[in-house]
Amino acid sequence: MPRPENPHLIDTFGRVATDLRVSLTDRCNLRCTYCMPAEGLDWMPGEQVLTDDELVRLIRIAVEMLGVTDIRLTGGEPLLRPGLEDLVARITALQPRPKVSMTTNGIGLAKRAAGLAAAGLNRINVSLDTVDPEMFKKITRRDRLSHVLAGLAAARDAGMAPVKVNAVLMRGVNEAEAVPLLKFCLAEGYHLRFIEQMPLDAQHGWNRGEMITAAEILAMLEAEFTLTPFPVARGGAPAERWLVDGGPGDVGVIASVTRPFCAACERTRLTADGAVRSCLFSNDETDLRSLVRAGARDEEVADAWRATMWGKLAGHEINDAGFAQPIRPMSAIGG
Ligand code: SAM
Ligand code: SF4
Repeated sequence: MPRPENPHLIDTFGRVATDLRVSLTDRCNLRCTYCMPAEGLDWMPGEQVLTDDELVRLIRIAVEMLGVTDIRLTGGEPLLRPGLEDLVARITALQPRPKVSMTTNGIGLAKRAAGLAAAGLNRINVSLDTVDPEMFKKITRRDRLSHVLAGLAAARDAGMAPVKVNAVLMRGVNEAEAVPLLKFCLAEGYHLRFIEQMPLDAQHGWNRGEMITAAEILAMLEAEFTLTPFPVARGGAPAERWLVDGGPGDVGVIASVTRPFCAACERTRLTADGAVRSCLFSNDETDLRSLVRAGARDEEVADAWRATMWGKLAGHEINDAGFAQPIRPMSAIGG
């Protein structure tokens, strides 16, 4: 199908991408078992990673020319990117001003939340799969639970609202954490989202039987709480939400595997080394860094981005027999 003249990031299924996920680094200071091996990964060589100027230029093109309205900073661990606060300030100075959020493991956030909020960061998601220190050590291979809890509190105190918590449950590991995690988040005023485990780990160890499904998560929660469907329509948001015990607290489940939401996807992705991807699960991507370093004009870069998104597939195909896990792991794409 020929691509129509349209400045925005449209695809052949009528979706429009307005939400850009930017990976700031592939490095991380935790080693979550569902994400990477104990020894870590071969990190991207420094010269391959976009410089701040290259990154801000690409984000400016997305915001000014391609209709992107929401930027989520992620990684790897985005707090490890040198000069993060300056980057946030440069991104929030763009016009029209995008909403800027970040997904982080929370290590070091306690000291930096106020500065990030001052730089314009609007919202934050902190990943936390347990409130038990021993279990935290087992999952992340680091003894840092107290750092994450302090980071969460600092984000709330800095006025980033809502503060969200992302949790992945694994069978035989932390499924018993569903209820304690929700009690903790309700007590602290955080918004908890469970994410079904996806085949995106660097070790290719995902196995459907070990994944705790959305239905199982809801059954565990309903044994303890009364869940009622959230009164506001979901739109393009990946989480299905429920009010807990009549509200105002809520809980969400991102059922990427068992209840895929690809038909409503509004996302485009930029990796730390400057590749644009139309989906977490894409098997192809477009190298914008080479274009930028070869002196391409803004319009040429924008058009390469549009062409990538035009080729976006209908869905991720995890549930199809021929599914092939993408070569890049989640930490190198940006989760
Ligand atoms: N390091 C940051 C963090 O952990 O929040 C940002 C990057 S991390 C890849 C982004 C999110 O992806 C986290 O919430 C993490 O729990 C989730 N994640 C990582 N591997 C996953 C997997 N195999 N399946 C589902 N979610 C995963
Ligand atoms: Fe690091 Fe986030 Fe992956 Fe955990 S999920 S290893 S914190 S990138």
